Amino acid sequence: MLKITDNKNLKIDNQLFVKPDYLIDPFISGNKYRKLKYNILEAKKQDSKTLLTFGGAFSNHIAAVAAAGSRFGFQTIGVIRGEELLNKIQGNATLEFAQNHGMQFHFVSREMYREKQTDVFIEDLKKQFGDFYLISEGGTNNLAIKGCEEILTEQDSEFDFITCPVGTGGTISGLINSSGNHQKILGFPALKGDFLRKDISKFAKRDNWDLITDFHFGGYAKINSELISFINDFKRQFNIPLDPIYTGKMAFGVFDLIKNGYFPKDAKILMIHTGGLQGINGMNRILEKKNMIKIQ
Ligand SMILES: *Cc1c(COP(=O)(O)O)cnc(C)c1O
Repeated sequence: MLKITDNKNLKIDNQLFVKPDYLIDPFISGNKYRKLKYNILEAKKQDSKTLLTFGGAFSNHIAAVAAAGSRFGFQTIGVIRGEELLNKIQGNATLEFAQNHGMQFHFVSREMYREKQTDVFIEDLKKQFGDFYLISEGGTNNLAIKGCEEILTEQDSEFDFITCPVGTGGTISGLINSSGNHQKILGFPALKGDFLRKDISKFAKRDNWDLITDFHFGGYAKINSELISFINDFKRQFNIPLDPIYTGKMAFGVFDLIKNGYFPKDAKILMIHTGGLQGINGMNRILEKKNMIKIQ
């Protein structure tokens, strides 16, 4: 597999550090690398030739699966939510990237997309595309969590709080499982909804965690100009880029909690930078249309 660069934690101040997992690989970024690693090994073991997965039009997961497929010798099929995108591949940075890495798309309506876990839907895909190794939406399964258990290293036991963004809950589950009892894991959901607690409880082997649900900015991929300014300031100040869908919202939330005295005075905090930077181009096209300041 890939060589993980020596990603030493970056210091923001005496209290706050960033684990730059986004530097793992330019294309299979951050937690998507972690989640794919053992799935790719399993697909090889099963002698699968094709990876099939699901995602929306800006999905980091779709981009990562396409890049991993082309690097490790798999065909890739992306089942994409939204039929209307069929004629809009050009102009969508994520889909263009995935297509350039050999991904074949299967666009489905939002209604159909909701049925994607059903046997009927999967059988239909098999009829159409032949056999494949299935990776669920967002890539969360037991093998993905095993990969995410490798994010924290022994040196990270010095931290009192570990924070990460949350989508499906796979990443935080891996962090929880590899954390120590003296540590608390705080997840910042990038979307609305309380179903996440249940999902995380299914995979997490400890209860030293909590979700901070105040920083989704209205829902998945929703943004405002305060968030964009924060992301631009953060990069200017610390030379660390953040993405607008996950890591930007988490970092915004962590700064807000610090400001409001949430953490004990001498607590050491480690933010996990889970990647997602490929999403910036797509968001900038939207910001441009809305006449808003772009991400630098
Ligand atoms: C997908 C993604 C997440 C969410 O991870 P889950 O394991 O689904 O919770 C967080 N950050 C980034 C950058 C992502 O791309």
